[in-house]
Amino acid sequence: MWILFDFKCAKGHVEEQMVKSTTTTSKCSCGLDSKRVISPVRFKLDGTDPGFPGAYDKWGRDHEKRGGDSEQTLDEAHSKPIG
Ligand SMILES: [Zn+2]
Repeated sequence: MWILFDFKCAKGHVEEQMVKSTTTTSKCSCGLDSKRVISPVRFKLDGTDPGFPGAYDKWGRDHEKRGGDSEQTLDEAHSKPIG
């Protein structure tokens, strides 16, 4: 079974990768090893919180900011119209 997970490397890059459910480590595009991270907000938004549709986007942006240097590119990719 293949599932989409977030993986985070030591530099703070977060990338979504489709892996087996048992896989907990992967390779970041920067070359470092990355570890699987659980995104609690994503599960919370799974149909249970219709009043707060922007929660994941907000969390994602906040999360990426801590990543550092590549935040501008990531921010553009996430700036899709909402509502
Ligand atoms: Zn990286």
